[in-house]
Amino acid sequence: MKTVFSGIQPSGELHLGNYLGAIRNWVSLQDQYRCIFCIVDYHAITQTYEPKEMSRRVTDMVVDLLALGIDPERSLLFLQSTVPEHTELAWVFNNVIGMGVLERMTQYKDKSEHQPDNVNVGLFTYPVLQAADILLYKAEAVPVGQDQLQHIELARDVARAFNHRFGKVFPECEALMTNLPKLLGLDGKQKMSKSLGNQIPLNVFGNDKAMRKLLAKAVTDSARVTREDPGNPDNCPTVGQMHKAISSPEDNAWVREGCTTAGIGCADCKAKLGDNMNAHFASYVERRAELVANPGRVEEVLAMGAQKARALAQRTMSEVHKKLGLLRPKASA
Ligand code: SF4
Repeated sequence: MKTVFSGIQPSGELHLGNYLGAIRNWVSLQDQYRCIFCIVDYHAITQTYEPKEMSRRVTDMVVDLLALGIDPERSLLFLQSTVPEHTELAWVFNNVIGMGVLERMTQYKDKSEHQPDNVNVGLFTYPVLQAADILLYKAEAVPVGQDQLQHIELARDVARAFNHRFGKVFPECEALMTNLPKLLGLDGKQKMSKSLGNQIPLNVFGNDKAMRKLLAKAVTDSARVTREDPGNPDNCPTVGQMHKAISSPEDNAWVREGCTTAGIGCADCKAKLGDNMNAHFASYVERRAELVANPGRVEEVLAMGAQKARALAQRTMSEVHKKLGLLRPKASA
């Protein structure tokens, strides 16, 4: 069974875009791969953030991941900063990869533009830590979208450079291309994102009134100016896309027929979507309530994950130390 690694920044409660764009795929990957899921809090500190909020962000995220179906008995779920070998290996990799390679990373440029008052070194070396995250576990595959391909290429370059200079330790991981929808936010303009405030947080499910109030705000096909104007679900940036991702083929056929003939209004369409989302997230709502009532479970999962991850990480680092020729006094080997 191949090992798959994937990381996610602790943004707090997940939203529908996170679920459809990544987590739903993670849940199904557990059936085919040995999965390692890491909450990358050391990556998160490269951005401006509020330290007081960090532990709550991590806890909320773990609650959501478990409630959505990440199974800590089958998969490894842990917090990056509890396994110091990640940063240790990143330092080693800093010495095998050239500045020019990092300068070409587009995400560095994008992120620097987003926070011009905090262009820190961590932002620049972020892809090196990402390569360490993957290679520490000798992951053979990484689920990525198109925008992440450059990072996987870099991890492969790092593995090749290390192996060439010091001897083979790391596999060259493959990109597990995922053709997942990039859900636009309720504004219908930009990718769904908590920072843009255009999201449907998953924890709104279970509160039907609040969820439908959010859906009411969703931008629809601009061709439907009045109830009588026909539209097209393909041009409906939010509701049409959510139906495709969540609703049954029968309901999608109903939406298409009703939308293109003006047989239904957008309110009818959103009401159907609300019903389907309630059904889709019913077990999530139930499991989430159980986890919220039992906060010790999150700590237990993270402690178990850290222990297992460290054992794997230390095994890799021991090989790395040998290849680098570092002296290991017996007591610290
Ligand atoms: Fe969008 Fe549905 Fe309205 Fe068509 S009927 S524009 S798919 S909300």
